[in-house]
Amino acid sequence: MKSIKLDHCWVCETRFTDANPPGTANREEHHIVPRQAGGSNGPTVSLCDKHHTILHKIAATLNSKKPKPYGHLIADLDPGRQKKVLYLAGVAANAFAQTKDDPNKRRVVVLTMDRETEDLLNRLKACYPKVRSREALVKLALQSLVNRHYQ
Ligand SMILES: [Zn+2]
Ligand SMILES: [Zn+2]
Repeated sequence: MKSIKLDHCWVCETRFTDANPPGTANREEHHIVPRQAGGSNGPTVSLCDKHHTILHKIAATLNSKKPKPYGHLIADLDPGRQKKVLYLAGVAANAFAQTKDDPNKRRVVVLTMDRETEDLLNRLKACYPKVRSREALVKLALQSLVNRHYQ
């Protein structure tokens, strides 16, 4: 991975105040692997302060035991830009997860779900009222598929 140094935010493309001609966004260089997770000398990407803050909020909730919904934080972005924020958040969350001494280390995989997939999950949920989380439901569905193929 190489550093991505830009005169605008990589996500929203708003020009920075130090660009020529100057824009309105405050420049921040985000460490793609965060410094606290060992990325001090690693690549950076130019972001506006707003999207830098949002990506770290999402990364934090992805790693927390009780993830909070974060869709509203990026609801004003088009899908392509949402993907960029979620990509950076996923990389940061995984870096944090791998450097933590947690016996229940989890890989964070950010899935964007279309309406149809969400409906499928919700229908499945109705059949398994005891399954609490979406993660558990996806695991159950995968297990049943695997069982079918590897008897
Ligand atoms: Zn931005
Ligand atoms: Zn950052």
